[in-house]
Amino acid sequence: LRRNPGESEFHQAVHEVLETLGPVLVKYPELAERKIIQRICEPERQIIFRVPWQDDRGETHINRAFRVEFNSALGPYKGGMRFHPSVYLGIIKFLGFEQIFKNALTGLPIGGGKGGSDFDPKGKSEDEIMRFCQSLMTELYRHLGEYTDVPAGDIGVGQREVGFLFGQYKRITNRYESGVFTGKGLSWGGSRARKEATGFGTVYFLEEMLKARNDGLEGKTCVVSGSGNVAVYAMEKIYELGGKVIACSDSSGIVVDEKGIDLDRVKRIKEVERRRISTYADEVKHAKYIEDGNIWAVPCEAALPCATQNELNGKDAKKLLQNGCIAVAEGANMPSTPEAIRLFLESGIAYGPGKAANAGGVATSALEMQQNASRDSWTFEHTEQRLHEIMKNIHRNCYETADEFGAPGNYVTGANIAGFLKVSQAMEAMGLI
Ligand code: NDP
Repeated sequence: LRRNPGESEFHQAVHEVLETLGPVLVKYPELAERKIIQRICEPERQIIFRVPWQDDRGETHINRAFRVEFNSALGPYKGGMRFHPSVYLGIIKFLGFEQIFKNALTGLPIGGGKGGSDFDPKGKSEDEIMRFCQSLMTELYRHLGEYTDVPAGDIGVGQREVGFLFGQYKRITNRYESGVFTGKGLSWGGSRARKEATGFGTVYFLEEMLKARNDGLEGKTCVVSGSGNVAVYAMEKIYELGGKVIACSDSSGIVVDEKGIDLDRVKRIKEVERRRISTYADEVKHAKYIEDGNIWAVPCEAALPCATQNELNGKDAKKLLQNGCIAVAEGANMPSTPEAIRLFLESGIAYGPGKAANAGGVATSALEMQQNASRDSWTFEHTEQRLHEIMKNIHRNCYETADEFGAPGNYVTGANIAGFLKVSQAMEAMGLI
């Protein structure tokens, strides 16, 4: 705490991991002796820089950008870029810290990193977004490389922004280094199923948790927060597996459609027209829009937080449990507060923490890197099948690790310990790094 004052989200993420590691340090005392915890909590490198850019009226703006290169024991730093006004060092460090363990869980050779800026893309023209991305990359490029650091998208950074960022990298370096960025468009080095991967993966994880309880998604009523990349494809896979989504949201409000959210409509509103989710209720008369509504008050059997950190607190968790919710799968990073997590774990419902449940996105990014390295392009079916296998493996690994360390059914403990062991053993093998 004293070392990183004011970084509350980072403290929260570290606390949540350290709380579960006691039994590991008892079993492997040499890790404690070599101060593995202190090392793993300290980023290998942090870059903070100025991003000056001009709006369409010619006015100058200055934003701050970050890239936290947290841990490269397993591979190049890997993790997305977030553009949101709330971004500061504490957010990027929490995301980068989580990313270390998540990436380890995928079983693929990727280290952990994260970046972003306090730039707000809302209301900006496409030209302004392009100028901002170009200015940001004019500094960031020197820190990147397919063997060094490989960013991707996150909140506020989709394929359009990745295009502007990658284009500027290519221009400055004079290298068509496809593997330096993931989340690219299909015609310029992207992977099929990457766009869908985080949402699909979260629902695969949910399905595995339910299967472990001799249950399944068929006929289950779900609510999904957010209506961005992760939320949209989580909804798509829920429908494919026989579930029904009755509510989704954005930062302004929630939409409830008891007949089932019409996903094609949401895709058009969010992906094509880039409008607010309230548009849905303007178009669909029987749907309800509640400004600043609480999505967790909508009764459901499965809840999928897919918007942002700390969006589900203790009160919300109580409400969900009272209403009969039996499963929570986190598409977002750290969406549940510590109090909410405690209530979920105590209640014994199936609770899949983000670092395991949403790892399908970064896993498919690593598959994009594989395709780039071999100058190949896989089919959608093949890529999705790989994603599905990876999610099943992550589930099994978390489940078995939780059992082994005396916390059966606790995916928080399972994910933290399995991820930690993989990274810490690699670090140990490489000497004092
Ligand atoms: P998008 O920008 O595509 O969508 C974000 C959604 O969440 C939007 O509906 C947005 O609403 C809402 N949202 C964002 N911030 C807030 C807030 N402060 N309060 C309420 N709602 C908010 O981002 P993604 O879908 O890519 O990311 C969502 C979450 O998933 C994040 O936690 C991200 O870190 C995590 N994640 C994403 C991965 C990916 O592959 N994209 C991979 C793994 C995790 P509005 O438009 O009104 O802002």
